Amino acid sequence: MSQVAAPSPVRFADRLANVETSAIRELFKLLGKPGIISFAGGFPDAALFDVEGIREATLAALAANPGAALQYGATEGFDPLREQLAAFMASKGVAELSPTDLIVTTGSQQALDLIGKTLISPGDKVIVEGPTFLATIQCFKLYGAELITVPVDGQGADVDALERLVAEHRPKLVYLIPTFGNPSGATLSLERRRRVLELAVRTNTLVVEDDPYGDLYFDQPPPPSLLALSDQVPGSRACLVHCGSLSKVLSPGLRIGWMVAPPALLAKATMCKQFSDAHTSTFAQATAAQYLAAGRMPATLQRVRGIYARRAQAMVQALRHTLGDAIDFVPPQGGLFVWARLTGAGGACHDGGVLAQRAIERGVAFVPGAPFFARDPDRATLRLSFATVDEDRIREGVQRLGSALRA
Ligand code: PMP
Repeated sequence: MSQVAAPSPVRFADRLANVETSAIRELFKLLGKPGIISFAGGFPDAALFDVEGIREATLAALAANPGAALQYGATEGFDPLREQLAAFMASKGVAELSPTDLIVTTGSQQALDLIGKTLISPGDKVIVEGPTFLATIQCFKLYGAELITVPVDGQGADVDALERLVAEHRPKLVYLIPTFGNPSGATLSLERRRRVLELAVRTNTLVVEDDPYGDLYFDQPPPPSLLALSDQVPGSRACLVHCGSLSKVLSPGLRIGWMVAPPALLAKATMCKQFSDAHTSTFAQATAAQYLAAGRMPATLQRVRGIYARRAQAMVQALRHTLGDAIDFVPPQGGLFVWARLTGAGGACHDGGVLAQRAIERGVAFVPGAPFFARDPDRATLRLSFATVDEDRIREGVQRLGSALRA
């Protein structure tokens, strides 16, 4: 007896039609192959986690107020953590930030989702950098955004182009990763930061500053965040949303992020968060609060900065030495990534996707750059993370990349 398959009762929402799972995920499936040197991830190095510090903070959280640490909590966040985060931001030059000016989010990823949920209606225009963080592209598309890209150079987003695009499109918001961008590695210059804030005020445009990497500088601190600079540009604080995260500096598994935004937006975001996860894990928040209160962060930052700086330098030198003029890049000053462009010099491969396949066969992985463009992908680009690989393996990985490039 033949059986006719019943129609599935699972009928997806229209909004999903706009979004695909990323091509990068397919590549990640290959990373389990033994012996692969991976420059593909966006993770911090697990070997650098301050396990002892977090253990002490966990015990302190349970000792201090176990009832609160294990109970439901306020959607806005656990007050002792909001206080610590306001103090952390103050230590980075953000003036007059009170704990109630921020909400705690489940990673900064949730802040991005709340921004999409509260601000983006289908068809709304949103300007993002080309290239930008892949999960932001997908998240904003899920809410129906029409994404417009502003080009990025060695000084971050091209602000002349941004001025033209804002005038032409009147976007709902502009999303930038001004410091050690993912994937671009680029940092917006001080002069451009001022111009972005002035543009925001002049055109009454909301600017989202996503800043998970600003603390991971190598030699010199980057220019102050847009949020820190906002007190120099009258009216700009009201045009700014700032997303922060402990993921890259402490632990992504804690899922602690935060969002500073104008009060009306913070209130709507809090309402939406309530429907989504009620609140970020109180236990994780209490632990993070104890960690920050114990004053451990400066030493942790200093330690990881030094290690990432040496790895970045090893990668930059190896790329120059081994790949020469077949590759072009601006050495990063912080963060986790080298963003590079294949020039095709000497007949070498100049397609990041093709190279990624060949590279995997030779035991090295990276992410091709094309998926990081919301529009007009530059297929010659690639993102290389040096974060989780020691210097010898970085040199070995770049050798393998060189052989893939010339294959
Ligand atoms: N923004 C950017 C630019 C990122 O690179 C990441 C993590 N890769 C996030 C946001 C999300 O980080 P988290 O949710 O862990 O804070």
